[in-house]
Amino acid sequence: MAMRTLLLCSLILLLCTCDRATSESDPEAEKTAAMEAPSTPAPEYAMVIHGGAGTILPENMTPERAAGIKAAMNAALDAGEAVLKAGGSAADAVEKTIWVMEDSPHFNAGKGAVFTNAGINEMDASFMTGHDQNAGAIGGVTNLKHPISGARAVLEKSEHVLLSGKGAEEFSILQGLETVDPKYFWTEHRWAALQRALEGEKVEQEKIEGNRIIEEIDRKYGTVGCVALDKSGNLAAGTSTGGMTNKRYNRLGDSPLIGAGTYADNATCGVSCTGWGEFFIRYAVAYDVHARMAYGNASVQDAADAVINKTLVEKGGTGGLIALDAKGNVAMPFNTPGMYRAYLKAGGEREIFFYKE
Ligand code: ASP
Repeated sequence: MAMRTLLLCSLILLLCTCDRATSESDPEAEKTAAMEAPSTPAPEYAMVIHGGAGTILPENMTPERAAGIKAAMNAALDAGEAVLKAGGSAADAVEKTIWVMEDSPHFNAGKGAVFTNAGINEMDASFMTGHDQNAGAIGGVTNLKHPISGARAVLEKSEHVLLSGKGAEEFSILQGLETVDPKYFWTEHRWAALQRALEGEKVEQEKIEGNRIIEEIDRKYGTVGCVALDKSGNLAAGTSTGGMTNKRYNRLGDSPLIGAGTYADNATCGVSCTGWGEFFIRYAVAYDVHARMAYGNASVQDAADAVINKTLVEKGGTGGLIALDAKGNVAMPFNTPGMYRAYLKAGGEREIFFYKE
């Protein structure tokens, strides 16, 4: 009996010891477990878009307009998702997605492009693929229905990176791209915006001291952009714009400039920017996001945030960007009141936003 009691006590003691060993925290063991724990798996594919940043506020929005913009963004996401789901390339997804936004009068690209000071539409676009850092861009085209396709054609079918004006149009026609009568780009709301800008110009001049703009007057953007990650792990990025209302002298912004408005590298991320182009050029915004990830090991969110909400804010540059890394992580920072933006991931996750959350 005494022997049985002794055995039982030993057994209880052993069990207690084991239990304590597993419940007591061992930092080394926890660290190993955390390292071995599977991180969130990368989605099979992902995509992020923007439709411009600027004075986008609920009080300036009608329900009809909001519904129209949302429908156009959903249609753009659908177009890209169909490509990615079927195993198509990130480059095809970017081009097809941007076509939809270029066809919509809601965005400052293609059909909805803003007017220059001379009352015409001059459009810019750029395109970059992340597996080879190949890039193409066009600036100041007036008759290309889909400027983004002009940029992609420069990437794929020329030895150059950036073509402009008549030469870019000539090249695009030789590649069989669709042209339209420049009147196609006339829209009432953009024409009215130019008239308002011309009226306001006198006031604006009075607010400029030397080269420093003291107050930013009703600058609305609306450029479109897309970054996609395909099932093969490749990234591509594209940006398309009419530039800024009332621009002169064949002004080019950041949108046709690789490294400023667009960048893509499979090793880091794809980026497309929107905002006051002159600042995005001066601070090489798209490349800076890539560089912070490449040389500083920053996450895509931290890199994008630092550039938009620190560098640009300190310098007075307004706008935002979308970025997507090769693991499907999305960043969409902006320092304006709003930015039309959306993303989707394999598995059905899809979100569209207009304002600050
Ligand atoms: N970044 C464009 C430009 O400066 C404008 C925009 O994003 O809406 O041309």
